[in-house]
Amino acid sequence: MKGWLKLPTDLHLATFGQRLRHLRRTRRLTLAELGARVGRAPSQLSLIENGRREPKLSLISALADALDVPLDDLLSPAPPSRRAELEIALEDSQQEPLYRGLELPYLRVGPRVPIEVLEHLAALYTELRRRDTKPTATPEEARVANAELRRQMRQRGNYFPEIEQLAVGMLDAVGYRSGTLSDALVAAIVLHCGFSVRYAEDLPRSVRSIADLRHRCIYLRRESLGMHTPRGILLQTLGHFVLDHEQPRDFADFLRQRVEANYFAAAVLVPEQVAVPFLRRARDDRDLAVEDLRDVFSVSYEMAAHRFTNLATKHLGVRCHFVRNDEAGTIYKAYENDGLVFPSDSSGAIEGQRMCRHWAGRRVFSSPDRYSAYYQYTDTPEGTHWCVAHVDPGRERNFAVTLGVPYDDSRWFRGRETTNRATSRCPAGPCCQRPPAPLADRWSGMAWPSARAHSHVLAVLPPGSFPGVDETDVYAFLDQHAPPD
Ligand SMILES: [Zn+2]
Repeated sequence: MKGWLKLPTDLHLATFGQRLRHLRRTRRLTLAELGARVGRAPSQLSLIENGRREPKLSLISALADALDVPLDDLLSPAPPSRRAELEIALEDSQQEPLYRGLELPYLRVGPRVPIEVLEHLAALYTELRRRDTKPTATPEEARVANAELRRQMRQRGNYFPEIEQLAVGMLDAVGYRSGTLSDALVAAIVLHCGFSVRYAEDLPRSVRSIADLRHRCIYLRRESLGMHTPRGILLQTLGHFVLDHEQPRDFADFLRQRVEANYFAAAVLVPEQVAVPFLRRARDDRDLAVEDLRDVFSVSYEMAAHRFTNLATKHLGVRCHFVRNDEAGTIYKAYENDGLVFPSDSSGAIEGQRMCRHWAGRRVFSSPDRYSAYYQYTDTPEGTHWCVAHVDPGRERNFAVTLGVPYDDSRWFRGRETTNRATSRCPAGPCCQRPPAPLADRWSGMAWPSARAHSHVLAVLPPGSFPGVDETDVYAFLDQHAPPD
């Protein structure tokens, strides 16, 4: 036995009590007999067996001796039997707000309650909990959650110091110095966090990765999904555990976790301590460019642009905006702290709105070379912005990623000498959201378009603990791939 002992910080009192009772009974001891051996009153032991009192380590030690079992056995987190497991589950359930909300009298599970009844109750409660915990949002709720999250991001200049610190700690631990994070170092970080990685071709379609928490293994596909390289997805997945995320409570929680996990991945792949000096040099040379950040750290253009928004305000004193839209102008992602006014609905949400035809993110699609950087100055009622837009070819459709800054800050950027100019009065003024009068006169009331049905940005997500994820597929996958217990 070890020279020192420590109580597990997560000692589950009900499980411990069940194990104690189970071991005592298998040794055919009464509470009084065991109490006598460890110098405690039977009533005290009874409280412990019922999970109502936390035992001190000295007592646990004495109990292990008295029962003649290894301490580890007594402290094992596994319930001693199916019946014990059910009793524990029922005991735990009754403590939950959801159960209490039913206002049922407390049910004491005595030894005469048949196990079939326990199974039945446990199954009913599991289903009740499943139906209750669905961070599925209506489109309205999703929009509100998105708007609120963006407000918080704007407030902090899209910079999360605590996640930066985590990333730095991790990079230090594996000996990272500069430049692109090698696959070997990514693997070292994963290992450092106590996980392993496996690649599988048959990952369910609804997921990008699955983490098997029992065996601490992360499953990935070996393919690139636009901005989501396998390295990025791996680090995003890892981010949830590094950041101590718990199963999302609601849709807002789900969104916040996703933002944080993505931030973590970007902070590891484009480390602050290397990226900031690099960006400062580029600014001093008046040669700031997102594509350089992309190339130096071997990340997607979108991740580089997004990462720029993390570091620009805090470290370069530059305010900026970021937007990702498709060819039709539908906005999928947006951020700003530079005063640009995005189109938004009554809840303040930007996602799903159509952006101005004159903005760089739309004009890039009609530029002669749409896959090269497209620069543009845009005059808006709030002032002039300089923008660089880039088209990322996607599997189903192309997306434009735009980074923009107020006119004054354009002097630090490559592409500032562009002669592309546009004027936009969107979203408030008369601009492009309505057809020009002559066109409208000719065709108003004379056109009947049939809209293409495609899943929209914020269509209601299918239900489930993790929105849009098919749990059956996930569990079936793990069943097939997990090592035998
Ligand atoms: Zn417009």
